[in-house]
Formats: sequence, structure tokens, C-alpha cells
Amino acid sequence: MGVREFDSIAKNTWCPGCGNFSILAAAKQAMVELVQSREVKPEQIVISSGIGCHGKISDYIKVNSFYCLHGRIVPPLMGVKVANQRLKVIGFAGDGDAYDEGVSHLVHTARRNLDATIIVHNNQVFALTSSQVTPTTPIGFKTKSAPKGSFETPLNPFHLMLASGATFVARGFTGDMRHLRSLILQAARHRGFAFIDVLQDCPSFNPTLRKFKPKVYDLNKEGHDVGDFAAAWEKAKEWNDRIPIGLFYRVEKEIYEKQLLGDRVLVDEKPLTSIQSVLDEFI
Ligand code: SF4
Repeated sequence: MGVREFDSIAKNTWCPGCGNFSILAAAKQAMVELVQSREVKPEQIVISSGIGCHGKISDYIKVNSFYCLHGRIVPPLMGVKVANQRLKVIGFAGDGDAYDEGVSHLVHTARRNLDATIIVHNNQVFALTSSQVTPTTPIGFKTKSAPKGSFETPLNPFHLMLASGATFVARGFTGDMRHLRSLILQAARHRGFAFIDVLQDCPSFNPTLRKFKPKVYDLNKEGHDVGDFAAAWEKAKEWNDRIPIGLFYRVEKEIYEKQLLGDRVLVDEKPLTSIQSVLDEFI
């Protein structure tokens, strides 16, 4: 089992040098490790993605996948986990997708602690539609929808997720793929809602790689206590001169599907009624 086992036949149409390539490669490598360590079989991995450049990742990884409506990557994953707790679910979203249209799903699924990993490709713009502001666009950044520069205060996704009750909160960087692979693996192994915001370079509309590279540092190499909520909150404020990447916060808490179902696996059970009888009610 190697990364090629997860290659699909779809032609990749991302721009040359796009940070999405790093996320794709890191995710596939993490999946290989999960399979090699017998934690999961390839057919037990289910991914979802939304609308945006990132969304094509569903085409580029050969596993079961949902290509969702804008902002709706989480509801299908919740349905999948409730139906079959044995599956490993990973959602990919863009920053517009996750923090704009999909923000309520993100908040409530974090609060419920669904056992899922959510990876946000944060390039700070709507890139597929050739650059409009998203909730993470910096003040002053000029886009087609804000030709004089954005004046909106950007959202801090880490504060949002910490306040919502996410049990694993981390930041990755497409300029450090090995670190990102390790982070995705940790998130996938975490029992509960694991959130990773990835600083993603968009060479076409927001090239950030050279700007961020000298500033990023691994907060987990500097003695950060991942069990300390207040310390995580403070670290999440750090941005201008130094940008922390790595795991901000992790805590153990019972997962949603266990509380809802105990050890029941719904797909193993006989349906209480036939699909046809339900359909008949609407005919
Ligand atoms: Fe990547 Fe930006 Fe091109 Fe989209 S527009 S594929 S995010 S470089």
C-alpha cells in the first residue's frame, strides 16, 4: 500500500504551484499510514468536499466521497458516522466554504463532538471565482469585490472553534508538508471533532508562501501545553511577526455518535420499514 493506491484517474486542473497539492499529498500519505497500521481499510475512509478550488480533492483521492453543495461538507459526514461508526470521515473545505456558508455546521458539529476530521484550505479568498473577500481576508487586501481593499475585520477560526467546543484545534501550512502530514494523521486518530486550518498558498490570487514561510514556527516545539485552553486562546491571537503552526488544543470528551447510539451500528440492523413503503407515502 502506497500513495499511488489513492490516485484517481481524474486530471488535476489546479494551477501550477497551488498549495492544494501539498494538502492532497499530505492527506494521501496520512491515509497510507492509517491503512498500513491497520487502523482502517481504504474502503472505510469517506471524504467530503465543498465548492471552491479545494473541492476537486474529492475527484483526486480514490476513496468513497461526497462532492457537496457550498458550505455543506459536514452534514453528509454526520449522516455517514451515525449510520456506520466504523468509518473514518474526513471533510475538506475552503475558507469561504467553511467560515461563510458553512459556519453553522462547523460550530454545531464541533459542539457535538462528532468523530470527524475537518481540514480547511485557507487561502483567504474565494479563488475559484477569481478572488472575492471571504471571512479570513485581511483588512486592506484588494479583490474584485473590494477594489479599494477589504475593510471587514477577519474572523479568527481558532477562537471560533475553541469557543464552539472543538476537541482538537490545529493549524497547518502548505509550505511544510511533512508537518501537515503529521497533523492530519494526529487529527484522524483523535477520537472526536478535529479541526485543522491550513494556511494555503494561492499563487494566482493570494501568493503567501514567501510571506509566511519566515514567520511560521512549530508551537509544539516551544513547550506549548496542548491541554491548556487559555494558553491555546492566547496562541491563537499570534499573527503578525510570528505565526504558530501545530496543535493548539486537545481534550478528551465523549463523542456524539456514542452518546446517540452506544455501540449500535445502524447499517448492520434490519430496517424498521421498507424504503418503498416510505416512498409510497409521498406518491
Ligand atoms: Fe490554487 Fe488559487 Fe489556482 Fe485555485 S486559483 S487552483 S487556489 S492557485
